[in-house]
Amino acid sequence: MARSDLQARLDERRAAHLYRRRRVLDGPQGPEIEVDGRRLLAFCSNDYLGLASHPEVARAFQRGIETYGTGSGAAHLVTGHSRAHHALEEELAEFTGRPRALLFSTGYMANLGVVGALTGRGDRVFEDRFNHASLLDAARMSGGKLVRYRHLDMAELHQRLTSAGFCEYLVATDGVFSMDGDLAPLPELARMAEGHGAWLLVDDAHGLGVLGEQGSGSLSHWQVAGEPVILMGTLGKAFGTFGAFVAADAAVIETLIQQARTYVYTTALPPALAEATRAALRLVRDGDDRRAHLRALVARFRAGAEQLGLDLLASETPIQPVVIGEPGTAVAASEALRERGILVPAMRPPTVPERTARLRITFSAAHTEAQVDRLLEALEAVLGAPPVAG
Ligand code: PMP
Repeated sequence: MARSDLQARLDERRAAHLYRRRRVLDGPQGPEIEVDGRRLLAFCSNDYLGLASHPEVARAFQRGIETYGTGSGAAHLVTGHSRAHHALEEELAEFTGRPRALLFSTGYMANLGVVGALTGRGDRVFEDRFNHASLLDAARMSGGKLVRYRHLDMAELHQRLTSAGFCEYLVATDGVFSMDGDLAPLPELARMAEGHGAWLLVDDAHGLGVLGEQGSGSLSHWQVAGEPVILMGTLGKAFGTFGAFVAADAAVIETLIQQARTYVYTTALPPALAEATRAALRLVRDGDDRRAHLRALVARFRAGAEQLGLDLLASETPIQPVVIGEPGTAVAASEALRERGILVPAMRPPTVPERTARLRITFSAAHTEAQVDRLLEALEAVLGAPPVAG
């Protein structure tokens, strides 16, 4: 792109209501946050269990700093792999019921690492169209061929797998779709992967901590086990800390240690953060009350939203989008909510498909029923009379 084109492209984005800007937060994550100097009731984080500012997690972080200092100082394969990382990996493997687990610095990097290590030229990576950008990017960067199927369309996937001929396959899916909140049919996907000798990579960024026994995620929710399944979980959402991991059998994990470039060529997470995540894991495991409260909030919201006649998606998870349509209208709705003291972001293309710009409402176990009611009142006021594009 020519240097002189940059500003023109930015201006185009702005005119199309697609310009993104950051809001500045003061203070911790929570139902009420201080944003750009104003206190707002927020329904937009992925802090599903309310652990991002939990005192036990914070204390474990502080104690970890006393033991390990602030930085890991090196990559895992050099001298960055601490006892804290190692213990967390063992605990995550046990938690997810997989033989081994491996920490990555972010979910984005974990997805790039897995797909890059397991596939290459001549291989095919089959992906749901609504998969997270990091899974789609991973396939594009792997040198393999990205084959996308319609959202949740198992018949199309089956047909594409069958007609692909002989090659190495990887099927990759979100466990819970990040912009829609619905679930991938993992039993069917696992059967299909097995039948075609393919790997199944499940990105459970939004299921881990929320679904399944003790919050162990989508695979547990669907009771899917089995060898070809590789799980990617993130730690910056329900766990309330930062980072990610891959859980799989030993041969996969050893391959990642040898070959995943986003594992080998990057600095290990701070060990103190691993200590904080170990504390978060204990809270996730013991978090049935939090999960029950979260489910009750979601049910309350859905019942209220239906009474208001809002068009909800088929989601039972804490991700409850309200599809608006055009980006300008979604931004105007988000702004109108903000004027009423409520923060809900507008998600626009390319994050979501064209003409499906939406308010992405998310709930946390830290919310109260009264706060859900405040949200419903504000939605009634804002969406009752259609907002005007600004
Ligand atoms: N996968 C999904 C489904 C996600 O929603 C996200 C984060 N939005 C990621 C992966 C990336 O995880 P991280 O933020 O740890 O890079």
